[in-house]
Amino acid sequence: AQRAVIIGASHAGAQLAASLRQERWTGEIVLIGDESALPYQRPPLSKAYLASKSTLKDLEIRSVEFYSKHGIQLLDATVEAIDRSAGSLSLSTGDALTYDKLALCTGARPRRLPTPGADLAGVYYLRTAADVGLIRKAATPGRRAVIVGGGYIGLETAASLRALGLEVTVLEATERVLERVTAPEVSAFFDRIHRSEGVDIRTGALVEALTGDSRVREVVLASGESIPADLLIVGIGVEPNVDLAAAADLAVDNGVVIDDHARTSDHNIVAAGDCASHDMARYGRRIRLESVPSAAEQAKVAAATICGKPKEIKALPWFWSDQYDLKLQIAGLNTGYDEVVLSGNPTRDRDFTCYYLRSAELIAADCINRPRDFMFSKRVISQQLPIDRAELSLAGAV
Ligand code: FAD
Repeated sequence: AQRAVIIGASHAGAQLAASLRQERWTGEIVLIGDESALPYQRPPLSKAYLASKSTLKDLEIRSVEFYSKHGIQLLDATVEAIDRSAGSLSLSTGDALTYDKLALCTGARPRRLPTPGADLAGVYYLRTAADVGLIRKAATPGRRAVIVGGGYIGLETAASLRALGLEVTVLEATERVLERVTAPEVSAFFDRIHRSEGVDIRTGALVEALTGDSRVREVVLASGESIPADLLIVGIGVEPNVDLAAAADLAVDNGVVIDDHARTSDHNIVAAGDCASHDMARYGRRIRLESVPSAAEQAKVAAATICGKPKEIKALPWFWSDQYDLKLQIAGLNTGYDEVVLSGNPTRDRDFTCYYLRSAELIAADCINRPRDFMFSKRVISQQLPIDRAELSLAGAV
């Protein structure tokens, strides 16, 4: 029988394995992961799981029975090298494993804080369940947590730590939180909400050093100011895990390069998820998305490709973030927008939508506690329907 091997057992890898069976792959499937856990959902790590409202068991993407029932073999190991000419992998266990088809679902890892003192105890990153296990131990009520980075993960972490009763400071290097991903109006909204929930947000705050004894005690800013910290969490973005692909001479460009069928530059190897960068015709450029829906979409297409069925990656990108009682849902990508239209009052309320337009076309929407605006936006953006600005600003009121 032919053997399909998937490297990386998370959202993309688990979906790819399941989709292979749906596409009638009759050969072996080996899903290799190095987290010593069944594939689990990552988004709750900074939300319910950090706030101790769920267990790792609740987060499992599929039960252990699912894998055995579908003949998906789970292997706990790190893949150290790919030998494309031999069709073989070297594993950390010392074994070699041959493949007929290979899928790279290696995801991403947190960018490290490049400042002196960043290796002190009490400094945490937040990517895996194991990371959150350590943070939960340190996060006792009344402690002072400093979060470096005012992106989605930083802000979700702030909300969860407030729920656990910690004092929380968020340090953001730019002039506003979520600067890289949203319009100023949306940043101002989240800034207001977090302050009202007791989070101390400092913008324009550049971390110069971390100081302490055996543990981190203080964060020193470029302004000279020091902020006391019992624990520090770094959320300054991720880097794709492309080392294996690069060492095997696959094309890499801020991620493993894939085409519309999720094929890498070696057509016997597919890639999907956070590790992959895809040239998206709609946006006219290569984009590496970091989201569960896109990992799932690419994985489904990759599985079809392995089975010789022509599917294409074309679903509209979308994303979500939960903070306090707020459910943010984002449809589309706002890159290159030249106008925003607001529906609702973000300076007063806890629900509104920010629509992003480019040359009068709706390209993205940030919908806060507005599920209907989100459904509407997804439809309009994916079908490229014409819009009426006046109607947009009213949409949520209907
Ligand atoms: P990953 O989840 O990164 O998994 C890759 C796996 O491969 C890892 O288990 C890794 O250890 C393993 N691996 C890597 N190299 C090897 C190797 N050589 N050998 C063996 N195994 C290997 N997305 C959303 O859409 N909504 C959200 O609200 C959201 N919130 C998030 C909150 C947090 C805290 C984090 C960290 C992410 C969040 N994301 C969210 C992003 C989402 O989790 C990722 O887009 C998704 O996990 C990507 O899945 P993946 O399978 O491509 O990669």
